[in-house]
Amino acid sequence: DPDVLGPKEHGIDPALVSPNAVRVTQTLQGAGYKAFIVGGAVRDLLLGIKPKDFDVATNATPEQVKQLFRRAFIIGRRFQIVHVMFGQELIEVTTFRGASAEAAPKDEHGRVLRDNTFGEQHEDATRRDFTINAMYYDPASQAVLDYHGGIADIRDKKLRIIGEPEARYREDPVRMLRVVRFAAKLKFTIDPASSAPIRVMAPLIDNVPAARVFDEMLKLLMSGHALACLQQLRKEGLHHGLLPLLDVVLEQPLGEKFVSLALANTDARVKEGKGVSPGFLFASLLWHQVLEKWRAYQAAGEYPIPALHLAADDVLDAQTEKLALQRKIASDMRDIWAMQPRFERRVGKAPYKLLEHLRLRAGFDFLLLRCQSGELDAELGEWWEAFIAGNGAEREELIARKP
Ligand code: ATP
Ligand code: MG
Repeated sequence: DPDVLGPKEHGIDPALVSPNAVRVTQTLQGAGYKAFIVGGAVRDLLLGIKPKDFDVATNATPEQVKQLFRRAFIIGRRFQIVHVMFGQELIEVTTFRGASAEAAPKDEHGRVLRDNTFGEQHEDATRRDFTINAMYYDPASQAVLDYHGGIADIRDKKLRIIGEPEARYREDPVRMLRVVRFAAKLKFTIDPASSAPIRVMAPLIDNVPAARVFDEMLKLLMSGHALACLQQLRKEGLHHGLLPLLDVVLEQPLGEKFVSLALANTDARVKEGKGVSPGFLFASLLWHQVLEKWRAYQAAGEYPIPALHLAADDVLDAQTEKLALQRKIASDMRDIWAMQPRFERRVGKAPYKLLEHLRLRAGFDFLLLRCQSGELDAELGEWWEAFIAGNGAEREELIARKP
């Protein structure tokens, strides 16, 4: 049985709860079902953080959920969930899942391939990853149901995997990335029993479909705590093979500075609520690989522009296999890289042509990063900043006085 905490004990501020999430639980409960806000949202509420999205767990089946809402869509074939839409806001409703990982079909390394049986609420709690992610909040009674000591771990700022850590990582190696992400983001420590097996079990991540690893890496890099996450990944011995070239990049002094700057920049943008493009991010992470190959192709006699394209091809080819880089992201990366030499041509019509480039902003931000890292003279970035902001006369003047 779970520990049940009242509002005085857990201190959740109802003002931080999405009215639409409340509406969903109310509607389900009104129809006679159990319904709770669950997972990351409860964790964030307990920490006094406004959750960025809300998940609801219920004992109603997806079909039953769908019938109760006007704009509800059943998503997924393997394990169905329901997306309930209110304007821009999406509430994800999941039916309690069974915990029977032992019985689930697995690959030869023990990774669970399917766990799509419905179950009881206590089973749903047990199949979740961390104690702090396995609590349920009922907005009506304002009760928090805690099945695995999550409240205590929130108070101790501790990440603890539910159940036997080795077995849970084997079932789903992505949990190793998740523990690192949450530790860095929440500034929690990882319980020793949960962190001990990671170093040994890290290679299991190789067997996870690349698209899933990519999604989790993207969450990690876009968390607003990317720098801390990567430091933590390294500490846990997890960075090898995740971005196959990232380990190499992180070992080059100039590359390290560049990557750190790019990540600090991304973290700042996330914290200011600005968008971050995955293309920009990955273009930065891999830039020093491109630079190295670009130089090598030029040394072998290629002209600069074709050499850059060859370098980009090599780097993207090596990454796509492992990382399942989506085509759109790869083409954004290529655009950003290909623009770079064009910033160095400050004669005649060339700078005006570049102004018309659809991705000028991203290319220019990237140029600034290169200046900040010491790769390029700061003068070039300043010149372009003035050129972009300038009026006709000022632009003419800049072209005339370019060094
Ligand atoms: P975030 O704030 O980053 O969204 P979150 O905890 O909501 O954090 P999600 O990936 O949205 O993370 O997952 C929602 C919930 O589903 C988690 O809180 C956890 O209970 C459960 N969960 C997600 N991924 C796993 C996993 N790999 N293994 C077990 N449970 C998981
Ligand atoms: Mg979430």
